Amino acid sequence: WSSETVAVVTGANRGIGYEIARQLAVHGLRVILTARDADRGRAAADGLRGEGLNLEFRQLDVSRADSVELFAKWIAEKYGGLDVLVNNAGVNFNTGANNSVEFAEEVIATNYFGTKRMIEIFIAMMRPSTSGARILNISSRLGRVNGRRNRVDDMTLREQLLKDDCLSEELIDEMVGNFLCQVKEGTWASNGWPQMYTDYSVSKLAVNLYTRLMARTLADRPEGHKIYINCYCPGWVKTAMTGWAGNASAEEGADTGVWVALLPCQLLTTGKFFAERREISF
Ligand code: NDP
Repeated sequence: WSSETVAVVTGANRGIGYEIARQLAVHGLRVILTARDADRGRAAADGLRGEGLNLEFRQLDVSRADSVELFAKWIAEKYGGLDVLVNNAGVNFNTGANNSVEFAEEVIATNYFGTKRMIEIFIAMMRPSTSGARILNISSRLGRVNGRRNRVDDMTLREQLLKDDCLSEELIDEMVGNFLCQVKEGTWASNGWPQMYTDYSVSKLAVNLYTRLMARTLADRPEGHKIYINCYCPGWVKTAMTGWAGNASAEEGADTGVWVALLPCQLLTTGKFFAERREISF
């Protein structure tokens, strides 16, 4: 990898995103560390540059269309596009046994619609290359359709979500829309949504589904213009999001993400879900 390869990481002022940005820069890529808060982002980038890494800061709030557009314009002017996009920015307001959906709208807007907005705008800006452009979405096992500890209980919906040819943008948006309506009406609890961290789990379920859908949509691109899109679960990681609970460090949590983002050409794959450097089921 060289500094000719431009990588963008969202929500990279701390936690797993910061570590992904650091590790990509250690691999020699030109990393754009982005954060919604300019002071926090600049401080993070300055610290890493102090370690001799090739990295710059840019403000980016994925939940705001104007912020994403401004950032895209800057990337187009400065680099003519990008090679690696890591959608890491995310929020979660549940810890421990708290399953409140008070912030459901913000959780879905950031984790799902923010990721989707980034992909929609940046697909057209992924630079052609023989090694393939790469998009990585940070997701969670909590967003599995049929997880052991958390799953969608509505059988009809579950079957639809597991079949690739049923998947569509409308289906995913309708699913999160229905969930948010039920939250407003106070009827969500009895409607078969995941039992743990429900709003967060629905947001990551939508990210996973969108990853599969986009992989299929992008599959026909010609050689030299390929875009590989995958998602991964970093594990249970000690960051601000978990209140520093967990069994992995941010460095360990970032490892699989960096591994997927930098897979050698002969191992490249698309539309897959990873954890601990192996493929897992949706
Ligand atoms: P942190 O809370 O430490 O980091 C989240 C980052 O996202 C922060 O930099 C935060 O910025 C940023 N962010 C939030 N909203 C926005 C926004 N609208 N625009 C741009 N940036 C935003 O959490 P983690 O590092 O743990 O989480 C990183 C990713 O990993 C998330 O997608 C999370 O869901 C996922 N994940 C984490 C797990 C864990 O165990 N920690 C498990 C599974 C998945 P700010 O500092 O300004 O708040």
